[in-house]
Amino acid sequence: MKSPTIERGWLREIRLRLREPFRTSRGTIEDRRIVLVMLEGGGHEGWGECVAGADSSWPETPDTAWKALETELLPRALGRAVALGERAVGAALATAGTGGDDTLETRMAAGALEMAAWDLAARADGVSLSQKLGGTQTLVLVGVTVGLQPSNEALCDLVDRYVSEGYQRVKVKIEPRRDVEPVAELRARFPALRLWADANAAYTLSDLPILRDLDSLGLELLEQPLKAHDFEGHARLQQELVTPICLDESITSERDARRALELRACGIVNLKPGRLGGHAESVRIHDLLQAARVPVWCGGMLETGIGRAHNLALASLPGFTLPGDISASRRYWERDLVTPEFEVIGGRMQVPSGLGIGVAVDEEYLRASTVRAVVIE
Ligand code: MG
Repeated sequence: MKSPTIERGWLREIRLRLREPFRTSRGTIEDRRIVLVMLEGGGHEGWGECVAGADSSWPETPDTAWKALETELLPRALGRAVALGERAVGAALATAGTGGDDTLETRMAAGALEMAAWDLAARADGVSLSQKLGGTQTLVLVGVTVGLQPSNEALCDLVDRYVSEGYQRVKVKIEPRRDVEPVAELRARFPALRLWADANAAYTLSDLPILRDLDSLGLELLEQPLKAHDFEGHARLQQELVTPICLDESITSERDARRALELRACGIVNLKPGRLGGHAESVRIHDLLQAARVPVWCGGMLETGIGRAHNLALASLPGFTLPGDISASRRYWERDLVTPEFEVIGGRMQVPSGLGIGVAVDEEYLRASTVRAVVIE
C-alpha cells in the first residue's frame, strides 16, 4: 500500500485539571499541560500526545517539547513518507531524535510525533494501530496506580474502591517512611490482591533492611527502587530479594534494556512509549525482552485518551503479560479528550478495533481546552 506523505502538522497545548491531585515521591501534580501533535497526509490524520511534564525528574518540559517540535522535528517530518515498512514507520522520523542518550532532551517530543505518524500510517492502511504494531490481544489486563495518601486508612479505602471497580492489580507509590507500614496494612486487608509498589528511585542500597521488609509482603513486583542510572545497584539488590525488580525510569532505550538483561538487574520491565521516543523503539524492546522471557507491561504518564489509546495498542502485543497502568478515563479526568471514553470491565480494557488509535478526538472539548496552537506546513 502506498504510504502517504506528511503534508501538514498541528501543534496544540491543552490544559486539563486532574480529578484529584496525584502524589509520588517526586511531588504532586494537579494540572496537566499537554502538547498534542496532529499530522495530516493523504486525506488521513494521525494523533500523538507528548508526555513531557508528567515526570518532573525528566529533562523535557511542555515548553522544551513545544519548541523542539515547532522549530525542528515537525518541519523536518513534512514531506516525508510516513511508512517505510511494517514496523518501520518511525524510521522515517529516526533523524527526529529517537534512540541514543544524546537525544534525551527531545525524546518525548519525538515520541509524540512518531506516534502520530503510526496512527496516520495505520489509518492509511485501513487497519487499527494494534494490528499495525503486531498486536495479538483484543482485551488487555489493566491495573490502577494509587498515589501517596495522607493516611493508611485513606489508602486502604481508595484501594477498596478500585478493587470493587474490578481492577486486577493495584500499584501503590511508596517513599522512605511511607513504605513498609502502609503496604503491610494493605496486605493484611487484601491478602490475595496482586499488589505492586513503585518507589520512583527514592531509595539507595543502604535502605536494604527496609527493602527486605517489603520483600516479605508478597509484592508481585517492586518498581524502580534505586536511581535510574544504577543498573549495577539494581543487579545487586535483585540478588537479595525474592520480589522481582521492575525497571521503569532506567529504561530509556533498547540499549538500556540490553544492559539490564546482561546484568540481570530486573525481572520485569515497564515500557512507556511516550518516553521511549514512540512505538518503534518500544516494539524493539518488547521483542528483545520477549525473547529473553522477561515480562513487560505498559506504564502510564497521566495521559488523555489519545496517549491512552496509543498505550493500549502497544499493550496488545503478546509480551505484555502483566496488567498495564492503563486506567479508565474517569480515573484521571472528569471528561476525556476522546470518545468513546475508556472503560475498565472485569479488570480488562477492550483494544479499539477502529482505524488507527480507534477513538475520535472530541473537537469541541479540544478547542475549549487549548491554550495555544500552531499549524506547520
Ligand atoms: Mg514507575
